[in-house]
Amino acid sequence: MVKISRRSFLKNSVRTASGIAVLGGNIPLLSSCVRQNKTLGNVKVFIPMPVQVVIDDVGWWSGEDGSKRQEPYRTGINRNHVPSDYQAIVDLGSSLGIRPQAAFVVCEWDKENTLKQLPTSTWMGKNWDNSRWVGHWLEEAAEIIRNNHNNFEITIHGVGHEYWEDGSFTRAEWTDSKGQMRPQDQIELHLEYFEKIMIQNNLGPLPKSFVPAAFRHSFGASEGRDISLAEILGKYGVNYINTPFSSIYNKERIQHEYFGFDSSVMTIDRGDDEFPWDIFPADPSAVRSGPTYGLHWPNMLHPDPERNHEVVKRWVEYLKPYNEKADMMLAPDSIAFQHQLGHHSLTLLSLKEDLIELDFTETDKMPGKISKGEFTIKIKTEEPQQFKSEDLVIKSQSLQKESEFLYVLNLKRKLDKKKVQISFV
Ligand SMILES: [Zn+2]
Repeated sequence: MVKISRRSFLKNSVRTASGIAVLGGNIPLLSSCVRQNKTLGNVKVFIPMPVQVVIDDVGWWSGEDGSKRQEPYRTGINRNHVPSDYQAIVDLGSSLGIRPQAAFVVCEWDKENTLKQLPTSTWMGKNWDNSRWVGHWLEEAAEIIRNNHNNFEITIHGVGHEYWEDGSFTRAEWTDSKGQMRPQDQIELHLEYFEKIMIQNNLGPLPKSFVPAAFRHSFGASEGRDISLAEILGKYGVNYINTPFSSIYNKERIQHEYFGFDSSVMTIDRGDDEFPWDIFPADPSAVRSGPTYGLHWPNMLHPDPERNHEVVKRWVEYLKPYNEKADMMLAPDSIAFQHQLGHHSLTLLSLKEDLIELDFTETDKMPGKISKGEFTIKIKTEEPQQFKSEDLVIKSQSLQKESEFLYVLNLKRKLDKKKVQISFV
């Protein structure tokens, strides 16, 4: 077995592969391995870091930042939103072969003024009247979302994004600015009304993922509460939260570098966004190393919606290379993202003679079935190769596009074996 030291790995990687140093951070070196072999030459194996694209504050029809008069910040742009802004998300997803998460605010989709019954959710309270935003655009946008299931995932973000009491709001809808979760009965009502509005528009049921509004969130129960937001969300079927760990409360409770489990709900670090929320449009260029690329809707739109495609193209060109790196990949969807990040972080990878060995001992300590789902490894070789395994179903093996001998293997575990092997045919 050749399990190289971190120092020699980095030295080697700088020489041999661009961008590889992004593996860094504090993670133990589990997710990549390299060796020399007389017959195989230089071989490198990676469990790539998955990157998920998360777009916040989707759902508004008004673009106005209303915060100065106790209305929501919304997206802060100088035009209304239109169905083609939804199409832009689909176009981003289909160009990259991914399902971007659209962190959704639903109040301006309320056709029946049902939010009158939930006064904490909007600036109008009991007098809520959304008639201004009820029109043909709702169904047009809903159809875009429904018809493009593989390239658009609705994620819970908020009903109205903030929390209103006596006509004025505090930040934010789910958790206040001191890190305390809103009262449990209010949390449950806000989730139930979120779902009601989804159903009104034939977009339901309640999504299975969550991005806390304004990133106010506590990992585990907050002070004065005997239940965590994650636990409540879990009861409503949500299994995944994405939020920046830089601003999360009770961060010390998080079990791993990039994620933790809060009542079995996987909570994943968003990192810090490259752009402020209201940059319209944005031109991405930062080198990312974490598991999420988070942005806000205006960042990927154009002031003239007919020219949205020009901005989307820039984002596609920026994000695509992450899929082509040996040590990274774009997550095709939220579920694959969770599986892959678990394996990237916890599955131990090694090379023995002509065998790749994977050890799931740590991975299997995660709750639920995350460690049992499909995942991807990438193998860089000097010559054409094929791979086989007794212990794993190799669901597909393909050459990374435009690469020389960078193989992408999609794998599924057959049994509960802790150590499995892949051999070179
Ligand atoms: Zn937001």
